Amino acid sequence: PEVISRQPTINIGLIGHVAHGKTTVVRAISGIQTTRFKCELECNITVKLGYANAKIYKCEDESCPRPLCYKSYGSGKEDNPPCDVPGFKNCKMKLLRHISFVDCPGHEILMTRMLSGATIMDGAFLLIAANESCPQPQTLEHLSAVDILKLQNLIILQNKVDIIQQDQARNQYKAIREFLKGTVAEGAPVVPISAQLQYNIDAVCEYIARIPIPKRDFVSPPRMVVIRSFDVNKPGCGIDDMKGGVVGGSIIKGVLKVNQMVELRPGILDKTADGKIICRPIYSRIMSLFAEQNKLQFAVPGGLIGVGTSMDPSLSRSDMLVGQVLGDVGTLPEVYIELKIRKIKLLRRHVGVEKKESEMQVSNLVKGEVLMLNILSMATGAQVIKARNNSAKLQLTAPVCTGIGEKVVLSRRVGGHWRLIGWGEIED
Ligand code: GDP
Ligand code: MG
Repeated sequence: PEVISRQPTINIGLIGHVAHGKTTVVRAISGIQTTRFKCELECNITVKLGYANAKIYKCEDESCPRPLCYKSYGSGKEDNPPCDVPGFKNCKMKLLRHISFVDCPGHEILMTRMLSGATIMDGAFLLIAANESCPQPQTLEHLSAVDILKLQNLIILQNKVDIIQQDQARNQYKAIREFLKGTVAEGAPVVPISAQLQYNIDAVCEYIARIPIPKRDFVSPPRMVVIRSFDVNKPGCGIDDMKGGVVGGSIIKGVLKVNQMVELRPGILDKTADGKIICRPIYSRIMSLFAEQNKLQFAVPGGLIGVGTSMDPSLSRSDMLVGQVLGDVGTLPEVYIELKIRKIKLLRRHVGVEKKESEMQVSNLVKGEVLMLNILSMATGAQVIKARNNSAKLQLTAPVCTGIGEKVVLSRRVGGHWRLIGWGEIED
């Protein structure tokens, strides 16, 4: 219980077509205000993460009416705030969940970015705008992606109901149900909301509280997936005031502690004289751990954390370490520059693109073609060296630290963008 007060323990993704309200719903639940941007250095880092944390509470009095008895606050809130439901104002609320939102910043159309975030999601909100027909291209593509990743705990938010009529909402609800059939989201709740006017946000909080906290592994050597990295020093900063590189991400197993030594792989990339890529792991010490403004002495799986290290900050500037893996020295998996993948499954039809009907079928992998791979949070280009029915050998543009059996998501360039085409898994 002490841990969840300070650190979020689950990640909820925000997926769906551009402008359907992902960022607005994060704001509605976390209450993140622009003033946050004024806070100092360490705090700034997490704002830059483009993500927000929130706490979900429930009134301790069981007779307090649903869903009013659920409420969310930013992650700085105390553990037992008073209830504000009329008639229950003497009651305290109890903290049920502390969550991190994984929003896709910037170009939502960049699938590879969405896929990097998706590997750490424990659940997701799929936003669907009520005033547009369903599905829009990226609604379909994002749902296909989480379907491939077998992401559980999806909650469909039918947003912007403030600008449509009731029967329109009902009709769209039927269309949404139809659209979800046969996917991981088939039985998912569809909650009508207005993120902007904060209608029904308490009902969303109730659904969040129902997401089970995944069983976590606290005993294995720690491993963290890096999804952002920064140099937090201002230009012209003196050498004595300089802070080490900062990485942001989520621990997938084990516990990280302040002061421990860690290793990052693949680490620093170099080329030999004859053009071969080599990588050197980065070794450093954890100087600080934090979850938004909360400083931590140790960090556990789930939830987004920032790790301040002793590494040269030029190594971590502008997201240079995204896709790397951080963990106990000597415990990380192999680094690959060539990969064999098996059990390849391609989508039957392209999703998320407008094409002529005749071009909608996804064709088999072809020797020589270039693909984009997503493995955990790493995105890398890859050339197909060998292609069979459902296996392939690939030459990667950038090395990846990964293990046998890990899922590989495949994208192909279609109409100027990388589009999801299928998946496979890493073979020995
Ligand atoms: P994102 O691209 O999915 O992150 O979408 P945003 O959260 O940035 O929202 C896109 C636009 O829709 C913004 O102009 C919002 O103000 C607007 N918007 C978001 N939620 C609602 C809502 O519930 N009702 C209405 N009318 N507009 C909304
Ligand atoms: Mg947005």
